[in-house]
Amino acid sequence: MGRCAVRGCFVRPRCRYARGWRTARPQSIIGSVSHSPRGALVVISGPSGAGKTSICDELLKRIPHSRWSVSVTTRPPRGREVDGQHYRFITPEEFQRMIDDGELLEYAQYLGHWYGTPRRPIDEALAAGQTVVLEIDVQGGAQVAQRMPESIRVFVLPPTMDTLKARLEGRQTESETLQQKRLAEADGEIAFARSSGHYPHVITNDILEDSVQQVLEIIERERHK
Ligand code: 5GP
Repeated sequence: MGRCAVRGCFVRPRCRYARGWRTARPQSIIGSVSHSPRGALVVISGPSGAGKTSICDELLKRIPHSRWSVSVTTRPPRGREVDGQHYRFITPEEFQRMIDDGELLEYAQYLGHWYGTPRRPIDEALAAGQTVVLEIDVQGGAQVAQRMPESIRVFVLPPTMDTLKARLEGRQTESETLQQKRLAEADGEIAFARSSGHYPHVITNDILEDSVQQVLEIIERERHK
C-alpha cells in the first residue's frame, strides 16, 4: 500500500480530489458490478451541512421500493447514530480487510476517517428493482460514476457559504474544531464537483421541499432516458 503524498494517509498514494489515483486501487474492485437494466442507483453528495441527509430521508419516504445504503466507517458514532442503521462502525483493520476482499463499491477518506459503500447489498437491491440511495462524498461519487455510469448523481450546494457555516455551527454533535474542518473541506468539494464532470446535476438546497422535488424530477427524467 502506498502513502498519500499530500497528507501521508495510508492506502492510496494521493488522497483527495486527485485525478488518476484510481490506478493505485486494487483491481479486484473495478468493473464487477453488473450493468443490466435494474433498479436505480441515486448518489447524493455535497459539503457537510448542505442538507444531504434531510433530502435523502425525504427521498426514501417518497420513492416506493427505495432503500438506504448503510456505509461502513472508521469514525466513531456521533449523537444518536445507531450502529447498523446510520453506519456500520468498524475498525480500520476491518475496513482494510473489506478493501482487500473487494467488498466495497467505493471508499474514501474524509477528515482522517474512512468511509465506504458495501457492494453486495447494492447489487442485491438493484437486482430486485429497488432504488438505492447513497449519501457519499465526492471522491466516492467519482468512483461510482466510473464504475456505474448509469447511476444518477446529484450534488447539493448550500445557498451560501454563510448558510453552510450557520448550519454546521447549529449542530450540537461536533466540536467547533471539527465544524471548522468540515467547512474548510467545502470549497474543494464544490470545486471538484463542478470541474470533474461526475455530477451532471447540481442543485441548491435552500428550501428542503423544493430540493426534494428537484431530485425526484431528476430521478424521473434519468430513468426515462
Ligand atoms: P459524516 O461524518 O458527516 O457522517 O460524513 C462525512 C462525509 O462522508 C460526508 O460527505 C458523507 O456524505 C461522506 N460519506 C458517508 N458515507 C460514505 C461512504 O460510504 N463513502 C464515501 N465516499 N463517503 C461517505
